[in-house]
Amino acid sequence: AKSEGGSTFRFFEAGMDEEMRFRRHLEVDLRAALAKEELELFYQPLVHVGSGHVSGFEALIRWRHPERGLVSPAVFIPLAEEIGLIKPIGAWVLRRACADAALWPEGVKVAVNLSPVQFRDGSLPGIVAAALQSSGLPAERLELEITESLMLMDDQAVLKILHDLRRLGTRIAMDDFGTGYSSLSYLRRFPFDKIKIDQSFIRGLDEQGDAAAIVRAVISLGQSLGMTVNAEGVETEEQFSTLRAQGCGEVQGYFFSPPRPGGEVQAMMRNLGAK
Ligand code: C2E
Ligand code: CA
Ligand code: CA
Ligand code: CA
Repeated sequence: AKSEGGSTFRFFEAGMDEEMRFRRHLEVDLRAALAKEELELFYQPLVHVGSGHVSGFEALIRWRHPERGLVSPAVFIPLAEEIGLIKPIGAWVLRRACADAALWPEGVKVAVNLSPVQFRDGSLPGIVAAALQSSGLPAERLELEITESLMLMDDQAVLKILHDLRRLGTRIAMDDFGTGYSSLSYLRRFPFDKIKIDQSFIRGLDEQGDAAAIVRAVISLGQSLGMTVNAEGVETEEQFSTLRAQGCGEVQGYFFSPPRPGGEVQAMMRNLGAK
């Protein structure tokens, strides 16, 4: 048992080392990624349930690492937040997404994910305004997605920034709804334009559990508050028809299309229009 303990300890140490080396490398590479133009936006269609048309696209960042291939944002966004890179990366995402969307057909929106870190000072509204102005994209075609963790930050400061963004004319969506903390109280404090039901609930529609009841309740809550309700992570026809029957306004997910490179936006609109 003694020797076992010793080897476990060494293994653990080596594992930590490995993990730290990986992170350090990734950190160095990420600092260079923007300048080396290794970051790219993919787009996933948002489908209006009533008409079946594409109402917009969500921008989802990708990192094409020269050796590691595509690195998931689930890995490098938290890293970027930690090492102070999320502000330049976030500003780049806003500029890129607005410039891309300005070339899409009129009325097709673009949704951009924002990190809570981008709300830590008051610079965000100015950055958004600059992205809109340089691209010429009308503000009402930009939708900003925030998460519930944002509402845990300093209330007044965050609310002021949200109101400033709203004053610019952008739309505000609450992402991953239902996974965070204190979901209902902040719906009273800030009138979101849209709530996006987290994919875990959509996956749960397949089981005969509580998820279906929660989804139904959130849809009717959104409706009575005048908010668009989006269901994300829709993977099957069955999930889609359940959501449609419940009056869900907008859907997105692999059933319609995975996120794809910007060059394929027109093709995605054609394919989904014909569906
Ligand atoms: P999110 O904003 O909740 O985005 C939805 C995630 O679900 C995306 O993962 C998308 O590719 C994936 N997805 C879409 N449809 C389906 C489906 O039918 N089934 C399944 N299983 N997954 C689906 P992705 O692209 O890996 O992004 C992960 C997260 O990274 C995003 O979650 C968001 O929190 C963050 N992220 C992505 N791009 C940005 C960005 O530009 N800025 C910031 N701050 N965060 C970003
Ligand atoms: Ca999102
Ligand atoms: Ca989400
Ligand atoms: Ca998420």
